[in-house]
Amino acid sequence: MLFLLVTVKKILTQEDALKSMARFLSKVTAPDAIRMLYLAFKGGAAVTKTEDLKTLLDLQYLAGLDIITVQHSLDFSLEDYEAQLRFAERWMEERGVDKPMMPVIQATENKETSAKLLALVEKHQPSMIGFDLRGGFYYHALRGIEEFKKRKPEVWVHALQTPPKVRFGRGLLTCSEGMILPMFGIDSFSRWIVPPPPTPLTKEVINVFDRKGWGSMKKKDYEAIRNNNTNCDCAVCQGKDLEPFYEGKVLDVLAKAKVHDHLAQRKELEGARESIRKGRFLSLLNTKEYPREFLKQLPAKDNENRPSKD
Ligand SMILES: [Zn+2]
Repeated sequence: MLFLLVTVKKILTQEDALKSMARFLSKVTAPDAIRMLYLAFKGGAAVTKTEDLKTLLDLQYLAGLDIITVQHSLDFSLEDYEAQLRFAERWMEERGVDKPMMPVIQATENKETSAKLLALVEKHQPSMIGFDLRGGFYYHALRGIEEFKKRKPEVWVHALQTPPKVRFGRGLLTCSEGMILPMFGIDSFSRWIVPPPPTPLTKEVINVFDRKGWGSMKKKDYEAIRNNNTNCDCAVCQGKDLEPFYEGKVLDVLAKAKVHDHLAQRKELEGARESIRKGRFLSLLNTKEYPREFLKQLPAKDNENRPSKD
């Protein structure tokens, strides 16, 4: 899956910029990539005007993207977002666009808002939903997705802006957030695009996915707990110890960590697919050190309702 960060204002106001962006998007491709547009807004910015929404829909169409996204923002009223979804549906009909539409909703702390948003989106019978985690862990909103997936298992749910670790209960856990998302019915996820850079960014503070315990660890943890080994055979690690991993400039190491995270998590989830399919993912999570720590912090009654350990 491919995500692009673009200067929204430019493409909304300059036709040349729109066309060149569409050309650029249509060329960027990878063999197994599903291409969709996701705009990461800073602060409270959002696409509120209908003409802007139309521009973005046109852009996605011109670029031949595989999915047409319609992004929600927490600043929108439910009515406004519903109007946008309806506009996009009409636009697709008029244009004869035969692509799946993906409403992308933002996760929120507020249980009631979460439920209403999901109900609104459900009414439009999408075949896929984007769930924007905004770099956080929104337990109640995720529980809402879990319930939704029980009703609509055929709908593909993709989480966006997934942070490396779960912030829950007593604070930041070592547990990798992406790896526990399938227990809430999330089918796929992509990473947090614009996390605030730790200052100063050094090799020591870079989070690296730990395949053994499904956590996210720093260099000193790898040295202390994992005997200086990633236990990983991905294209970056190649089963070697950590020395080559941390060689080079800080940004090179960061890039290596991103590729390793992507490949290693994909590999681990591939192995877990069978247990996810059979509804036994929770018992698998209980065999992994850091997800187990996370599960212990959940309200007991929530776990009772899930398929039990086997
Ligand atoms: Zn690796």
